[in-house]
This record gives sequence, structure tokens and C-alpha cells, in this order.
Amino acid sequence: MSRPSCQPDVLLVKILLSNDDGYRAAGLRALAAALGEFGAITVVAPDRNRTGAGHSLTLDVPLRVGKADESFYYVTGTPTDCVHLAISGLFDFEHDMVVSGVNDGANLGDDVLYSGTVAAAIEGRFLGLPAIAVSLCTDTRSPRHFETGARVARDLVARILARPLDPTMILNVNVPDRPYDELRGLIATRLGYRHRAEPVVKSHDPKGRTVYWVGAAGPQQDAGPGTDFHAVAQGYVSVTPLQVDLTRHAALGDIGSWLGVPP
Ligand code: MN
Repeated sequence: MSRPSCQPDVLLVKILLSNDDGYRAAGLRALAAALGEFGAITVVAPDRNRTGAGHSLTLDVPLRVGKADESFYYVTGTPTDCVHLAISGLFDFEHDMVVSGVNDGANLGDDVLYSGTVAAAIEGRFLGLPAIAVSLCTDTRSPRHFETGARVARDLVARILARPLDPTMILNVNVPDRPYDELRGLIATRLGYRHRAEPVVKSHDPKGRTVYWVGAAGPQQDAGPGTDFHAVAQGYVSVTPLQVDLTRHAALGDIGSWLGVPP
């Protein structure tokens, strides 16, 4: 007679992965490979590149879900749609945390408002553990060490499981595009700011009609010590704790006075 298997202390965390680069993205594959040791991985990601989708839901057309592989799904929607679906009815079980990425490109400062990568993590804030967005600071000619970003994600997930953080926290993580062993370490940062974006690029379609391309993000403006920009420029992994509440609490009194309502 065989004895029932006994596996004490086996950690079975259910981690939901998503991204905004689409389900075929190399960064997502690297992330899935790196986090498998923690338990069950489910991937729900857009069917195509939705970079810049921000925190948007698709409400005018239905969402369709395809299955690329075991526990690997793609959705005809935004990153937010993907995570929303995954935690609101696509599955008959609950996930414990969301990890989004590894994005092909930095999400620093103002980028977080436009980022689908960050939005996917934020959409996971209703789960019981902090959500993480991981971005690799690539440019057009950089080598794209996605495995570095994935290893950093693994380090942070291990750290969260060992020492839980406030479950409403979202960690926005930016990783220099270099081999893991060449990272200088991890550092807590605040978001910096960019200058306004480059102008839109005016062009014409084959029929001569005017079209526009949204221009590049603006150059860094507030990028001094303590910011996410500064950390990655110095070779550190930037870890910025984010919150969903955009209220400028310090201004409540001033706005009350401005409105003529005594504080
Ligand atoms: Mn992207």
C-alpha cells in the first residue's frame, strides 16, 4: 500500500501574471518561468501589444478569451480587462497576487499613469497580497535582459511571502537592462516627473489624409536623488510603493478655503 504523500511547508501561492506587451512577449515568458517555483501560475494577457492602454476597461464590445497553453490565456482587451476578468469570474478560484511584466521599457514618473503594465498590477489590488509591476529599462538598442527583470520579480515575491507588506500596496519596479549580477541592488524610490511629451508627429496615410502619431515621452525633469529615474540611472533596481488614492490630502484645507467653506 502506498502512503499518502506528505509535503509539509510547501508554499502554494496562486500568482496571476499579466502584461501590456501581449501574451507572446518575451518578458512575460521569462516572468512565468521565474515564478513557477512559488506555486500555481496563471497567465491572462492581452492578445496584442496594448502598451499605453493605461487603466482602461473595454465596455463597448464583449471580451473573448483564448487559451494558448495550459493556464495561459489571451484576451481581446486591455491589461486591466485581463486582470479584471481573471479576478472577477473567469476562474472558479481566487489568486493571491498579481505580477505584471516584464515590460519592454521603463515605467518611471508620469509613465505610471499611461502604463498598462502598472494598470494590470493596480487592478490586482483587491487580492490579498501586494501587486507588483516590473519593467525593464530598455531602449531601442539595448540587449533586453528580461531574465534579469524576472529574477528581480522572483526576489520580491519571495520577500513579500516571507515578510508581508500592506496588501493594498502596489510596487512599481524598474530594472536596469543589464545582467542580474551587474545590478547594484534594490532601492526604495519616489516617482520623479517628466517634462511634457514630445509633439505629436503629423503624417499622411496612403490616401493623403492627415494622421498623427503620439510622440515620445518627455525627457526627465525631476530626476534627482530619491527618484526612480535616479535609481535606475545609477544601476539600481527602483522599487516605488504606489497607492490608488490620488487625493492631494495636504490641499484639502486650502481648497475648502478657496471654495469659501470654512475648514
Ligand atoms: Mn509595454
